[in-house]
Amino acid sequence: MGKTVILSNGHGGVINGKYQTAGKRSPKREHGVLYEGMFNRWVVNGVIEELDRIGIPYYHVSPELTDISLKTRVDRVKKIYNSDKDVYLLDVHANAGGGEGVEGFTTDGETGSDAIAEIFLCNIEEDLKDQKMRFDFSDGDRDKESNFYVLRNTPCSAFLFESGFMDGEKDYKNLWDRNYLQSIVCSLVRSITEIYNS
Ligand SMILES: [Zn+2]
Repeated sequence: MGKTVILSNGHGGVINGKYQTAGKRSPKREHGVLYEGMFNRWVVNGVIEELDRIGIPYYHVSPELTDISLKTRVDRVKKIYNSDKDVYLLDVHANAGGGEGVEGFTTDGETGSDAIAEIFLCNIEEDLKDQKMRFDFSDGDRDKESNFYVLRNTPCSAFLFESGFMDGEKDYKNLWDRNYLQSIVCSLVRSITEIYNS
């Protein structure tokens, strides 16, 4: 039986021109400042539109523009999980730190999250031909492991996707590029559909 995605767009959005989250933004370059929470919503909103069109169900724990706490996100995931056990979390972010490429995280150790992460990252590798894959094969699969709060505290499988580096020269351009954005949206939708139909 397949699993239904719980979508989370990391950080707050922009309300009347004011970004709701401290930090979490690119340096000012040719397109201006890229706010991570704004970008994360571009991705998740695109995913939602496509899932609506193809009739695949989803949950969404961060539909508001205000920056809700990580605990609130986790509490909402727990509430969904209480009534539907066949779910997993997809938390969408963009990186900082001046690198290049995409990567995905699950919690430490082998969990149900690893198989889900592997589906997302295999498809991303196929669908983003020109992008660098920051994979860690040391434990036999593509994901990296980290005890991020949201990954550690959700009761279901959870996968955190980093869409590129806001402050990396090449990725800053990628993140503003509609084709790049659309490639990410299509690839995430492809994985969500595969996991739902599996
Ligand atoms: Zn983030």
